Amino acid sequence: MFLIGVDEMVHEWALAESIADYIERELSKKGKKNIAKIVIKLGILQSIDKEILDFALKEIIKSRDYRVGEIVYEDEEVILKCRRCGYEWRINPSQLDEAIREAIHFVPEAVYSYFKCPRCGSRDFEIVRGRGVSIKEIILGDNNE
Ligand SMILES: [Zn+2]
Repeated sequence: MFLIGVDEMVHEWALAESIADYIERELSKKGKKNIAKIVIKLGILQSIDKEILDFALKEIIKSRDYRVGEIVYEDEEVILKCRRCGYEWRINPSQLDEAIREAIHFVPEAVYSYFKCPRCGSRDFEIVRGRGVSIKEIILGDNNE
């Protein structure tokens, strides 16, 4: 258990805000105001605090003109791929040193300072999966007037 700094909370709130904006755009395109369920994928690279994100998202949605039933979060593992030799490998951010995790949390590109291809040693790799937040699925609710 450790204390969460203010900056860290601001990051989750900013993410929640952009999810809420996304939902709003999707609903207004469809002329709807009610979601039964939304599935949000969280890339684990940035060690996003799910509890803060969930709290923030629910608070923000209260102030919006639509309603969301169930919010489900799914972790997306991190897969890196070497641009030089094509090797793909996984990393598990929860096993990293806390200072490194924090650096990557704020600046995902910091990952390039801490990892290199296990096969050829190149730092020229891409983040194939596990970065950022994405919406996997939105299920509209009933009685959507
Ligand atoms: Zn390589």
